[in-house]
Amino acid sequence: MPAEALKCKECDERYPLDARFVCDRCFGPLEVLYDLSGLDPAETRRRIQAGPPSIWRYADFLPFERSPRTALAAGVTPLVRADRLAERLGVREVWVKNDAANPTHSFKDRVVTIALAKARELGYEVVACASTGNLANAVAAHAAAAGFESYVFIPADLEEQKVLATGVYGTHLVAVDGSYDDVNRLCTQLAGERESWAFVNVNLRPYYAEGSKTLGFEIAEQLGFQLPDRVVAPIASGSLFTRIARGFQEWLDVGLLDGELPAMNGAQADGCSPVAEAFEAGRDVCRPVRFPATIAKSLAIGDPADGPYAVELARRSGGRIDSVTDEEIRDGIRLLAETAGIFTETAGGVTTAVLRKLAERGELDPSERVVLTITGEGLKTLDAVRGTFEVHAVEPDVESFERALGAPAVA
Ligand SMILES: *Cc1c(COP(=O)(O)O)cnc(C)c1O
Ligand SMILES: [Zn+2]
Repeated sequence: MPAEALKCKECDERYPLDARFVCDRCFGPLEVLYDLSGLDPAETRRRIQAGPPSIWRYADFLPFERSPRTALAAGVTPLVRADRLAERLGVREVWVKNDAANPTHSFKDRVVTIALAKARELGYEVVACASTGNLANAVAAHAAAAGFESYVFIPADLEEQKVLATGVYGTHLVAVDGSYDDVNRLCTQLAGERESWAFVNVNLRPYYAEGSKTLGFEIAEQLGFQLPDRVVAPIASGSLFTRIARGFQEWLDVGLLDGELPAMNGAQADGCSPVAEAFEAGRDVCRPVRFPATIAKSLAIGDPADGPYAVELARRSGGRIDSVTDEEIRDGIRLLAETAGIFTETAGGVTTAVLRKLAERGELDPSERVVLTITGEGLKTLDAVRGTFEVHAVEPDVESFERALGAPAVA
């Protein structure tokens, strides 16, 4: 197994591969350290292509001795070329990575697959999470399929569709009277008290984050082991955004890919945009947003753990981090639906709206190949499109229909 240890991102201190997430020396975040130097590119590519149709095809880059057997298969979601969207935006090639096609309809199935496999390996029987919605769906479902008891903590004002799509799996669903950051603080305290619980995004966070890398692997594999010129991706904690690039980088290092990192464009909502603000102001640190107010609830993290790393990545790769209004988010959802036939949740409205903004500002080269990451399903945030189109009410007769929608032109 190429995974060697957990390593502090700030001071490089090493730790064993167990359940921990902060450095004892400097309180920096921990990540999985690999030694990929033994991987032969041709042989690795062959193993990937012969692997299962799930994220386990990338087992060489995941922190397990052997690919665990998991009940729900995450990953290998469609990457579709969206020519009508590209034409509307005035660029040559736009590809939509539709991660709503995962088992619980968001990219969170990737991170939960890895975290629960690690929870099992470490001997846990109870799993838990602090969620902005989609993580709750994924933890409840994967725990049910794998036979873990689960506790799922959500902000009380979550979209009803996400609450219903979580409770159905028979989890202990806990609605906390507060923001996501309050939920996360509560879970961090509980993780200290209940040592027999695996919190997927607290004490198992370094493994959880590894799941997001697979989105980068898949984009590159589906483009024929090539990199796009630009990736537009949403930012909540910044974990997904930074790990997509980590996936590309690992494959560049191993020799599976040539070239350089794509420009990484991050997308946030105006009502909670601490990372976009830090980027704009040229700061490294993100000023926490106390009271997030946006329809993009899955991105409403006021104090993003990976925010500074996201800012640094956007700068280093020649990208940017932008934010959009709720109105632009609604328009983004409609634009993607009307041009690509893909109905995304508010987070996808954020990324689509940011891509449109880049196009309108003339920041896209007409010859570039752009990947737009769609991380969640529109049916989970139905209120966002309520009232954005007309429904024609008619009586069940032809005259009534023609009165409402017009008679055919007479020759
Ligand atoms: C969780 C989530 C994200 C991004 O999460 P990070 O915390 O930045 O990794 C993006 N889109 C959707 C739909 C999500 O649920
Ligand atoms: Zn440290």
